[in-house]
Amino acid sequence: MDDNYRAAVDAAAIFSETDLRGCITYVNQQFCSISGYSREELLGANHRILNSGLHEPTFFLDMWRALAAGRVWKGEICNRAKDGSLYWVDSTMVPLIDPHTNKVRKYVSIRFDVTEKRQLLHTLQWRVGHDVLTGLPNRAYLSDLLNQALAFSRREAIPLAVCMLDLDGFKAVNDGYGHATGDLLLVEVARRLQSILRGGDAVARLSGDEFVLILRHIEGPQQLDAALQRILRALAAPYMVREQPLRLSASIGVTLFPQDDEDADALVRHADQAMYVAKQQGRNRYHVFDVSQELELKATHQTVTRVRRALRQGELCLHYQPKVNMRSGQVIGFEALLRWMHPSKGPVPPGEFLPLVEQTDLIVELGEWVIDQALTQLQQWHQAGRDWSLSVNIAARQLQRGDFAERLAGLLGRYPDVDPARLDLEIVESVAIDNLPRVGRCLDACRALGVRFSLDDFGTGYSSLSYLKRLPAQTIKIDKSFVRDILHDHDDLALAGAVIGLARAFGREVVAEGVESVEHGRVLMGLGCELAQGYGIARPMPVEAVAGWVAAYRQPRAWRQGLIARPPLGAWR
Ligand code: C2E
Ligand code: MG
Ligand code: MG
Repeated sequence: MDDNYRAAVDAAAIFSETDLRGCITYVNQQFCSISGYSREELLGANHRILNSGLHEPTFFLDMWRALAAGRVWKGEICNRAKDGSLYWVDSTMVPLIDPHTNKVRKYVSIRFDVTEKRQLLHTLQWRVGHDVLTGLPNRAYLSDLLNQALAFSRREAIPLAVCMLDLDGFKAVNDGYGHATGDLLLVEVARRLQSILRGGDAVARLSGDEFVLILRHIEGPQQLDAALQRILRALAAPYMVREQPLRLSASIGVTLFPQDDEDADALVRHADQAMYVAKQQGRNRYHVFDVSQELELKATHQTVTRVRRALRQGELCLHYQPKVNMRSGQVIGFEALLRWMHPSKGPVPPGEFLPLVEQTDLIVELGEWVIDQALTQLQQWHQAGRDWSLSVNIAARQLQRGDFAERLAGLLGRYPDVDPARLDLEIVESVAIDNLPRVGRCLDACRALGVRFSLDDFGTGYSSLSYLKRLPAQTIKIDKSFVRDILHDHDDLALAGAVIGLARAFGREVVAEGVESVEHGRVLMGLGCELAQGYGIARPMPVEAVAGWVAAYRQPRAWRQGLIARPPLGAWR
């Protein structure tokens, strides 16, 4: 190379020349300085002398292949200096071609030191994935770690524990001793956690005083207990921060894969939920996430979502079960019972979905829909000259809403032709027990609107006399579970008799549910109850069937004759 050019290149770059075998034939001063070797040591030596071992063999193979083919090669290479330290150079290797033979004669390489840039990049990359204070992986990197651990566990069928750890009382340290002390304490906590972990385990700092641990060596409950106790003990040992003795404990929530067979996000969420339970249970302990409970919750959620859609899509309807006076045969009214006409399963009884819906606010919306349907029906019956009453069931949650009476008034206002006294709200007494003063006020407000109340399923709850006195229900419905057995269980017979007597004493009407046979009706009449509802009279029916059924209904002769039945022989002791 022309000396002038070489002087220019020498000034600008790390420069060397190599023969076809890779032996160094020329190096400039910059080359000697950065590599730490003298010119004498380098000349004649193979270029491999600088190999850092950091690159795969294919890296150099590709490079030599390009050069041998006469192409320029560019890339960043990590070299090792004489003192063992690493440095990065941005290299351009140029094969020089002999113009006479047209063959590669030698290689020259022009390099620039990019070590600092590389270090900066590395630091930046590290910072992206780590918490600068403790040096632990951060939330972003945790997600990678957890996904890798999960993939491994799935592949190798190895259990995995994901733990959410939250320090107890850390805020008090921060507030009492300042953030600098708090920070040092976190560093020490991180150190203790790291020192406990075994190979393949990991700990990350999520935020503040929250850490996530991934434990791989958990074969069973004993090992889990041992590992977590070790962690709790280690963190509960005294601390000395800035000559300040400090104490701390931790609450840990754990979830176990594969029992909890979810993705990384869900596992962390479950561990978090379990951690809150550990906190509630008194801190300095761990709590294992309950998978079956979660599955139940999920099922509830699915059902509720499905019912919500059913309501929107018009898959719900009411069926009507008559209430009759057994003696006169008069149909006094109906109870509206919810039915879900499932597109594939057919009619679904309320017992299969209402208990789940009743745990959510959907019951409020659904309950209002039921009242609205009932009022529509009452209006149609009224227009047809039928003055039957109609009962609807009101769920506890619905009634406990502060605005129940107000909303009921709004609904009634939309049906001015309907006499509110035709609407009967069936409530179970437990509704009132939780909050008698408030519910009592609500019921009074509803009564002021003119609607009536029945106490449903009477006898199955507390059936307390004081509630009976204070609840403004005109009617008591004896629960079908007693009625069913009055023919052969003298206790149930006695109970039914007592409820009927009680109703009379309080001046309430009484309706027997679950009258399945003529005989049931006879015995009830003998006890003084004439109003009844049950399969023995009619099953709940769609609205189209109601008029026809009423027209055809004749009460059994045994009832018509008003025979006062004696209780079955031997029923009274
Ligand atoms: P409930 O209010 O006590 O209604 C009486 C239940 O007994 C109805 O069941 C009815 O079909 C059934 N039944 C009637 N006669 C007989 C009989 O002779 N023998 C037997 N074994 N059963 C009889 P259904 O329709 O399955 O409703 C069950 C419960 O679901 C109701 O009990 C009520 O608590 C609730 N429910 C029904 N519709 C609604 C509604 O619109 N809203 C609310 N919140 N709950 C409702
Ligand atoms: Mg009812
Ligand atoms: Mg009932």
